[in-house]
Amino acid sequence: MNKGFLIILTLFFGLLSAQKNAYYQQHAQYKMDIDVDAKNFTYNGNQTLIYTNNSPDELNVVYYHLYWNAFKPGSMMDQRVASQGKNGDSRLQKNGISTLASIPKEEEGAQNIHWIKQNGKTLQFEIQGTVMKVYLNSPIKPNSSTTFTMEWDAVIPMQIRRAGRNNREGIDMTVTQWYPKIAEYDYDGWATFDYIGREFHAPFADFEVNIKIDKNYVIGAGGTLENPNEVKGYDAKANIKTNKDNKATWRWTAKNMLDFAWAADRDYTVESFVVLDGPKIYYVYQKSEKTKYWEESKPYVTKFFQIMNATYGRYVYPSYSFIQGGDGGMEYGMGTMMLGEATSLNGLVGLMVHEGGHSWNQQMMAYNESVRPWMDEGFTSYYDDYIMHQLFPPKTPQANPFTVSIDRYRTFVKKGIEEPAGWLGDHHDNGTAYSFATYYKGELFLVQLGYIMGEQNLALVMKEFYNEWNLKHPTDRDFMHIAQKIAGMDLKWFLHYWINTTKTIDYGIKDVKYEENYTTIILENKGTVPMPVDFSILTTDKKVVNFQIPLNMTHTWKTKDIYGDFKTEAYWPWTQKEYTLTIPYNKSQISALGIDFSQRLADVNLEDNLVEVK
Ligand SMILES: [Zn+2]
Repeated sequence: MNKGFLIILTLFFGLLSAQKNAYYQQHAQYKMDIDVDAKNFTYNGNQTLIYTNNSPDELNVVYYHLYWNAFKPGSMMDQRVASQGKNGDSRLQKNGISTLASIPKEEEGAQNIHWIKQNGKTLQFEIQGTVMKVYLNSPIKPNSSTTFTMEWDAVIPMQIRRAGRNNREGIDMTVTQWYPKIAEYDYDGWATFDYIGREFHAPFADFEVNIKIDKNYVIGAGGTLENPNEVKGYDAKANIKTNKDNKATWRWTAKNMLDFAWAADRDYTVESFVVLDGPKIYYVYQKSEKTKYWEESKPYVTKFFQIMNATYGRYVYPSYSFIQGGDGGMEYGMGTMMLGEATSLNGLVGLMVHEGGHSWNQQMMAYNESVRPWMDEGFTSYYDDYIMHQLFPPKTPQANPFTVSIDRYRTFVKKGIEEPAGWLGDHHDNGTAYSFATYYKGELFLVQLGYIMGEQNLALVMKEFYNEWNLKHPTDRDFMHIAQKIAGMDLKWFLHYWINTTKTIDYGIKDVKYEENYTTIILENKGTVPMPVDFSILTTDKKVVNFQIPLNMTHTWKTKDIYGDFKTEAYWPWTQKEYTLTIPYNKSQISALGIDFSQRLADVNLEDNLVEVK
């Protein structure tokens, strides 16, 4: 073998192994024609789906989600709600009993597949609840596309859980998770989880959706309306075009989205305004006394998009719609369904900020929500608190924007029902445990990282994360890769402790000895999650002096933090329970000393964190 050949061979295998781990994502292109029977809450649908397999794997089957099949007596969703009793989803039960069990036949949700073809040839399929498995006639080779066509009909469920009809706010149809949707395929295989009430996941897709419905209806959707001049509500000069059944056809498009969702009502009002250097915002809701805060919310929504664009990364779509759907808030691409009625401006804006924030954490950074719900809900909650703190500054000043969430976490931990955040979203034993693991643990994950690496570094991490992963499917590993690179720290330990376990942080001051020219403090790690320790004193002349005790596992320390300048002390090895800190101040110079004056550390026991010197 000559040397040149050896080099070529090495390069070739080098390339192969590099390709083996390369990131890829699947793509879908939907065209759907929908004919709605508004009187009977049903519709007929035709779908053409061009599916592109960018994976290195040959696919012999594909899976679709048929979410509305969950809204039937005896469905997995019904079984789950029944077996969870009072720990389950309150919106699907009355007095702890599943309301799905008593849905009359004609009001059950359904997605009935008439036929599906691949490149014109009929395919075999089997349906188990909300998941359809389709056997392909010809496998989809790597880097190739295939065309599926399908005809189906559907019944909009009476049961309101995100999708449904005639909800309590009086919206006729909330049409979400409403079409047979191809499942995501990635390095982890097909994401074929059953719909029992929580999260969704899908490949990025382009949409062309034509909805034919009674001309008196107004539609709100996450997408671009291509013919506002032919339908009701969007254009004052519209000339409503109808067919012989008195139906108008709404033509919607959207690009690079996980989903297309819409709602229809005869009494919707449509309002719009433009965020300077941002998207066009649509409000689609029933105007009444109960929805009076929508008008007032507009400048806050504008500010929200501007802050997100500046701090995280640009919103990439042309518009965003806030649609009164009537069942809580649920985020979709380019829009959200939300409760319209609100008892305060703060409450309404809070919901808008949360659901709008999912445009980044769920839609643009499209995590697999069923596997890592803490990234999607947690990161969104982080920005909620961060932005609401600016939009509605608290009356009594808080040490940081996250103190309320940290306090709730502390209170929850004491209940003893916590489950790890890394657990599958739908499989938590207890609904409250799910909420805390996902929303609070996920949010505090970022708050703790800010404490460990400094807020300026965390801001850079978020921007870099957006730059690398916008319109892709990142995992926690991808996030940590960037966090470690920017902070120059080893942070893997923190992900494992915080996300995969229910271990807690608990540091305390064990003893303080005052000498003539200095003071010695014995700090104690009584918890099960090791952390670096920020320690501060308030001097008698009202100055704050900060010290940081880096954790040996990070192999470095923060160099800046908006919460102050820190004098760096010797490492604290994670195996060591006590640490002696000596500071060049005597008793007469100190009025208080304690751990983490910024109050970001999620220490579960604050009683021994502060000493006031009398
Ligand atoms: Zn959310």
